[in-house]
Amino acid sequence: MVLTDYSEIRALLARHGFRFSKSLGQNFLTADWVPRRIAEEAGLDGGTGVVEIGPGVGCLTAELSGRAGRVVSVELDKALRPVLAETLAGRENIELVFGDALKMDLKKLAAEKLPGLRPVVCANLPYNVTTPLLTAILEAECFETVTVMIQREVARRICAGPGSGDYGAFGLFVQWHCETELLFDVPPSCFVPQPKVTSSVIRLTRRAAPPVQVSDEALLFRVIRAAFNQRRKTLVNALSSGLALDKETAAKAVENAGFDARVRGEALDLVGFVQITEEIRRMQSVDL
Ligand code: SAM
Repeated sequence: MVLTDYSEIRALLARHGFRFSKSLGQNFLTADWVPRRIAEEAGLDGGTGVVEIGPGVGCLTAELSGRAGRVVSVELDKALRPVLAETLAGRENIELVFGDALKMDLKKLAAEKLPGLRPVVCANLPYNVTTPLLTAILEAECFETVTVMIQREVARRICAGPGSGDYGAFGLFVQWHCETELLFDVPPSCFVPQPKVTSSVIRLTRRAAPPVQVSDEALLFRVIRAAFNQRRKTLVNALSSGLALDKETAAKAVENAGFDARVRGEALDLVGFVQITEEIRRMQSVDL
């Protein structure tokens, strides 16, 4: 069976009485080059263990199984259980786990299901929960690479640098943990049902250490969130309201870090945010 052939998928799903769920972000691939290329970009070999989230009918799962040592694939929709039992029959290195990936301990899942293998994530993610899923994947701090298809708009935000309108707190969080690469776009015509937006495949490669040293990582991300929560304000005003600092202290921190008091957060790179965080921390008299 060709798992990306539209008429075969339709017949298969009809046979199992399956109905697409919009709330589960179910847009299945119908172009065979896409799962093949995603799996190729994931850099798999016999020593890799893959965590996939959302196998759908299993087109990407099958590609992963042919390249990796083992695949554990998490699917929330139990209606896909009989479908996947049929489409992935005979593939010994795949284990299906039915449940909500957002409620799972992904580090434990990888350790238990993929022992002795280098864990990676590869998936066509459900778009409605992309941000919490990617956050959980990065916070698991065990996946060497994360090769995923997501909405193009989110992909751009993740890979954006200072000065761009796409630059923001989530991208900085991802860039703190990983090197980011925007690989290729996939048009809506490659899915059933067709999504309204273009998709992009990105690859995140976990850093051995953060790109810059900081003495208080939690404070760094409070500073970053405050800066982008009110991105049209100057950084001084955004920090003053976001961190409940008096304006004078916020201005001193920004200027002591070497920036003009009128600078906006979107102009700063990670190094700049770290410098400001260290300045705020140094101001011992301030109770944060
Ligand atoms: N991999 C398939 C493909 O490329 O054709 C399907 C991808 S589809 C965009 C997303 C899949 O994620 C669906 O199968 C959906 O049921 C599943 N899903 C949605 N939310 C989930 C969650 N929280 N945990 C696990 N799977 C989820």
